[in-house]
Amino acid sequence: AKERGHNVCSYFSEELHQKRRSRYLIAAQLHHALERNEFSLVYQPKISLTTGEVVGAEALLRWHNAELGAVPADLFIPLAEDTGLINEIGDWVLEEAVAQAKTWCESGCATPIAINLSARQFQDGSILQRIENALSGHGLDSRWLSVELTETCFLANAEQTADTLLALRERGVGVSIDDFGTGFSSLSYIRTMSLDHLKIDRSFISSITGSNRDRQLVSAIIAMSQALGLSVVAEGVETHEQLEVLRELGCDQVQGYLICRPQRADDFVSWYEQYSIT
Ligand code: C2E
Ligand code: CA
Ligand code: CA
Ligand code: CA
Repeated sequence: AKERGHNVCSYFSEELHQKRRSRYLIAAQLHHALERNEFSLVYQPKISLTTGEVVGAEALLRWHNAELGAVPADLFIPLAEDTGLINEIGDWVLEEAVAQAKTWCESGCATPIAINLSARQFQDGSILQRIENALSGHGLDSRWLSVELTETCFLANAEQTADTLLALRERGVGVSIDDFGTGFSSLSYIRTMSLDHLKIDRSFISSITGSNRDRQLVSAIIAMSQALGLSVVAEGVETHEQLEVLRELGCDQVQGYLICRPQRADDFVSWYEQYSIT
């Protein structure tokens, strides 16, 4: 038994060692990803449940590295946040998304693009100016850009973030609160922050057809949001059943694999044209 205990222990420390090592390796590669042009964006449509129309697209970052292959966003984004690289990477995302939105406006596939922002991008107080510069640099009307942020953005510097969100909305840039329901202070910040949309986290949507409790919870979130003038987006919709429940509950918009997986800009356009016909 003693020996087994020892093995278990060394097994775990070995695993931990591997994890640290791979984090280190990934971070080392991540430092060169921008200069090596290894990032790209994919786009996932948001659909209105009332009109059936495409009302926007979320830009999601992809990283393909020669040694590591495709690294999942859930893995490298937190690393980019910890190392501070997310600021430079975030600037690239902003630039790329604004350029894409401009291209789409001129090609008859006009679709507002939403980018994800990390808490660190709010820290030095320059995000508003950065967005302003990207929009004016490309001559893009602000209604074609929106931002998605999680409540971690409110934790560090609530007052400054509140001011920034207000300014963004006054400027015409839409603001969505992402992953709603997964944090701790949800209710207090939707009271004080200036927002347009609320995105219900995928974890609620996945259990909406199985758990009556979760269905009630989503129903309450929708009612509350609409009472506050926010439109509600359900993310991670994967089945027709989920879609039907969300429709019954009066959800405004949906996004998920059921409608379309995130895809490269040119594939998005092909999908968009097909979708508009049918
Ligand atoms: P998120 O903002 O909550 O994005 C939604 C995630 O769910 C995306 O994962 C998307 O591909 C995935 N998804 C969409 N529909 C479905 C579905 O029906 N089922 C399932 N199972 N998943 C679905 P992805 O692209 O791996 O991104 C993960 C997270 O990484 C994002 O979560 C976001 O927090 C972060 N992220 C991605 N791109 C960026 C970026 O440009 N900047 C920042 N700061 N964060 C980003
Ligand atoms: Ca998002
Ligand atoms: Ca989300
Ligand atoms: Ca998320």
